[in-house]
Order: sequence, then structure tokens, then C-alpha cells
Amino acid sequence: MAVTTAPQTKDIESLRAYYNDPDTCPSDSLKPVPLIDEQAFVSWQQDIPREYLRLSPEELDRRIRAARAYLGEKLVILGHHYQRNEVIQYADFTGDSFKLAQHAAAQDKAEYVLFCGVHFMAESADILTRPGVRVMLPNMAAGCSMADMADPDDVYQAWDEIADVLGDTKVIPITYMNSAASLKAFVGEHDGMVCTSSNAARVLKWAFERGEKVLFFPDQHLGRNTGYDLGIPLDQMVLWNYRLPNGGVTAEQLERAKVILWQGHCSTHQRFNVDQIEKARREYPGVQVIVHPECRWEVVQAADENGSTEKIIKTVSSSPAGSTWAVGTEINLVNRLQQQNPDKTVFCLDPVVCPCSTMYRIHPAYLAWVLEGLVAGHVINEIRVDDETRKWSLVALERMLALP
Ligand code: SF4
Repeated sequence: MAVTTAPQTKDIESLRAYYNDPDTCPSDSLKPVPLIDEQAFVSWQQDIPREYLRLSPEELDRRIRAARAYLGEKLVILGHHYQRNEVIQYADFTGDSFKLAQHAAAQDKAEYVLFCGVHFMAESADILTRPGVRVMLPNMAAGCSMADMADPDDVYQAWDEIADVLGDTKVIPITYMNSAASLKAFVGEHDGMVCTSSNAARVLKWAFERGEKVLFFPDQHLGRNTGYDLGIPLDQMVLWNYRLPNGGVTAEQLERAKVILWQGHCSTHQRFNVDQIEKARREYPGVQVIVHPECRWEVVQAADENGSTEKIIKTVSSSPAGSTWAVGTEINLVNRLQQQNPDKTVFCLDPVVCPCSTMYRIHPAYLAWVLEGLVAGHVINEIRVDDETRKWSLVALERMLALP
């Protein structure tokens, strides 16, 4: 992939085009800077009061800590592992989306949950917390490009088109956690379940105990890698291209398929490739390579291990001193692993420093704004899932949380 440099211009349209291109890196630096100096700020939530734009990292830290202390046990801050250090330091609980879902469900004191992650995670927290708990997302522009690839209307249409071909064949819909609440509700209502990268294999096994085929969305790679690990050959997993009539799949392909994979992917994990793995092995003899299952199949096959963010953390942290690890996942997590394991060599497979562009949108200025709003009695950037969606999403999420 070509490495490009951000245009040296203040022209909003050029910057917007640059940062909206999934093949370019959204940040030139991971150093803390005032919000106004973040080049990608042009495409982030803009209605934050102007007074927050120029606050220095030190001033923001002071104000966040003061507001946090004032709010006490009324507030819980959840932080996803892909958050930058200057945000995750305030989290009461950190984790991947599965672990954070469990933390959200376990809250029995907090009145407010501030979710430092992306939109679908905050929705899941709203669904799982007890009624009355108010969930907030610091920056409403923190979405997920993968989740956006599964538009609910496209999924409903695919479901009907698949049923037209397969008739009474039982198809179980499985959605990755990284999807809109309405899709979690859809799978809940159609005898399906939510999965995460921590439990995708268990969820697929569960599905095949109940149906003949699985429709898996939005991440084709997690579905393919998990299906393959369970012994399903690649030619029994078809790719459903939601931009084409009938997904671009013939009736014969559909009848033969065990898994129907949605054509979605994570832009961050698409950056990893087999050449990077070969280069790491040439340059670091004895290196072990561990990647996230959102990476392409050939990358997962070339790696020594693959697993969820939590598994990557456990594997690297529990390895013997002196080990060398090349890691294929988001850079903020890899940098933190490096800092927390000074007796090992830990580096990112991708030489270009590039965080998940939407996780990166949680800047401390947004935290300060939302927390100071709460101190003043205002709930800012609340995430609310309507009752009907909540009811069925809860069914799908609770099925997942109840898995042994
Ligand atoms: S890392 Fe990928 S899947 Fe995770 S939030 Fe970012 S774009 Fe979405």
C-alpha cells in the first residue's frame, strides 16, 4: 500500500478527501495535541464549544480529573483497547467489545456510563445497562466503517433474497458485535445471535446445532477465518456482495454454501499483509506473529497465532522474557503492549503508524466537554436505543453472554 503524506493545506475539502480515504493514514502523529491541531478534526463532531478547542493536554487532564472526581460513583468510564493513551488512562474498565459489554451489564451503581469507543459499542452498553442508566459517547462522529458496511435495509433485502432461493432451509443470522443495534435486533428476532472475535467459534458451533447455514455479517474475514478453523472448506463459504442483485451469488453457490459471508471488512486490519509477515521473519529470526481474525485469511494462515484483542494481550504478556512479537492489530494497543512488556520486543507488523481512524476521534477535549456538562447537570451525546430494538437486541446479546 502506498504511504501518503497529509496535504499541507487548510483547505477543508482536500483534508476531508484525504481523511475519508481508507487507504491513507488518519493521523500523522500519536502525540497529544489540542483538538484544533488534530488535522482530522474537520470531519469530527463540530458542535463542541469553542473554549475546548485550544486547551492544552495538561489543562484538559486537570479539568477531566476534577470533573471525574466530582462525579464519583455515579459515573463509570469504559475504554476500548484501541483508544489512545491520553484517553484510556481515565477508564475504570478497559477491554475489547465483549469484555466491555460484560462490564456494562454488570453495573449496578452507576447512573451514567461514558463509553470511550465507537457508536455500536455505546449502543450495546445502552441495551445491556439497567433501565435508567444513561450512556454517552464523547464524540458522535466515532462510528465504525465496518459496521457502516452492513446497512440494515441491505441486510433485510439479502435475507429475503436468500429465502427466495433456499425456501425452508434453516439459515441462522449471526452478527458481529460491530454492527448497528437494529441488526442485533434482527438476529435476535430470527433465532440468531451476536458474536465477538473472542467467541465467534462458539457462536458458529451454536448456530450449526440449530440450522443448516449461517448468514454472517458484517465482517467477511472473521466469518471466513472462524469457519475455516471449524473445518468448513473455503468453497463452502460464499461472499455476498450487497451492491449486486442476489449478492452476486448463483442459486447453486448458495445451495452448496455452509456460510454466507457479508462483504464487509475493517479498514484498520486490511493494512496487514503476508509480505509484512515475511519481512518480520527475515529481520527478526525467532519472531512470533500474532494477528487479529479481522485480517485477511491468507494473513491469518501465515501468522503463528490469531485471536481477539484480549487473546493477543494475554498471549504476548504471558510469553517468556526475551520473546519477540510482531502484532497485526491496531497501533494504540500494540504500543501499549510494548510499554507494558519492556522485557520483550513487541512491534506492529505495519510500519506505518496508523490508528483506527474512528476510535481516534475520541479526543480528551470531548471527554472534558461531556464530563463538565454532567457536572453542570446536562447529559451530552446520549446514546439511546428505542424500546423495540432494545428488546430484540437484548435477546441476541443475552444469548451470547449466556454461552458456556
Ligand atoms: S478497528 Fe475496524 S472494526 Fe474496530 S472500530 Fe475501527 S474500523 Fe471498526
